[in-house]
Amino acid sequence: MIIKNINARTILNSHADLTVEVVVKTEKGIKGMGSAPKGTSTGKHEVKNFFKNRVKTIKEFNFFLKRKLIGRHVESLKDVFMIEEALLPFGAGITLSTSYALIDALSRENDVPKWKILNPEKRFFKHKITPISKIIGGSVHSGYPQGKLILPDIQEFLVFNKARNLEKKIIINKEVHNALKEELIKNKIVSGVDYEGGWIAPISNVEAFKLLEKAVAKVKANYKEKIFIGVDIASSNFYKNERYVYYTKISEKEKQKYNTEEQYELIKTLIKKYKLKYVEDPFNEEDFMSHAKLTKKTSTMIIGDDLFVTDPERLKRGIEVKACNSIIIKPNQIGSLKKTFETIKIAKKYKYISVISHRSKETNDDTIAHIGLAQKLPFIKIGIINGERVSKLNALLRN
Ligand code: PEP
Ligand code: MG
Repeated sequence: MIIKNINARTILNSHADLTVEVVVKTEKGIKGMGSAPKGTSTGKHEVKNFFKNRVKTIKEFNFFLKRKLIGRHVESLKDVFMIEEALLPFGAGITLSTSYALIDALSRENDVPKWKILNPEKRFFKHKITPISKIIGGSVHSGYPQGKLILPDIQEFLVFNKARNLEKKIIINKEVHNALKEELIKNKIVSGVDYEGGWIAPISNVEAFKLLEKAVAKVKANYKEKIFIGVDIASSNFYKNERYVYYTKISEKEKQKYNTEEQYELIKTLIKKYKLKYVEDPFNEEDFMSHAKLTKKTSTMIIGDDLFVTDPERLKRGIEVKACNSIIIKPNQIGSLKKTFETIKIAKKYKYISVISHRSKETNDDTIAHIGLAQKLPFIKIGIINGERVSKLNALLRN
């Protein structure tokens, strides 16, 4: 494929923030588009979305860079990786938007799904990826300042199940989402939705767990499949002065400030009490050793998100001390598709479970779903309602 024209322009993400979309036109008249998401609870070690500001980035891209790219032959993922190199100094937003647009154009020119461009060695296969869905949201995803209102401090209360096909997996998770709303109504609790489609309500962490347990039990009665509960603690958001500060009830004890040792005991108790199968970022993003200590003691998935930021070097550091057994994969944390693939390769080699994940402020771009398929990843963390989440689920359903 030969690039005839390439342009960066402004669009809105799901939060109605201005962001970038790249459009590629090929000599054959095919159009490919790509855009990247943005996080709210971003890790300290993430690559910036834009190193300069967005307007300057678009200007520089359109005035200087596009001239270098027009006329370029792009035939494979390797060629996309080469183009990425030139874009890295601009930040994750423009780099990934360009890569995603090129992948989209390649898939249209070759009349194959994007996953096939992302992994040309794979022939047809039905990969069984499991969606992890958010049922209740809290913390910074609620859109409210922490500590000012009653809301869970835990950012995400999640479910997943092992039904035989994707359709059923999605339906079961959605039924839990519906059942949770019914529980809120029954208890006369007013609710809304967070950035990712999870319910937000004026409840404590403990109440959120209890309501989720009830919703899961209700749905379970109609299915033989097991439904598992998980959480993204996103604990760096409330780690202050070497204490984890919970503003609403997290345990039966009244104590709301936990030092590292107490947090470790608390997480162990929560895993046991609520039979958690998935625990993301239980400790501060610099604390590899506490993650290692917990991983040793449990068979639950312990996932590093802010801890690893999809960075191959940080993952290697984690592997050395056996911190976590799973990793969140968010391409825009590391700012390039090439590095994302490098991280996935290392994770596979050391048997870490990879969870491809959305960000809280998404676009309708569905490339992450195709990365999950191409790389045969076992899980995708994604909301279950709202167009920008559904676009990824639909990409999975179509393939
Ligand atoms: C997360 O923390 O896993 C997440 C998806 O949130 P954000 O995109 O806000 O970082
Ligand atoms: Mg997270």
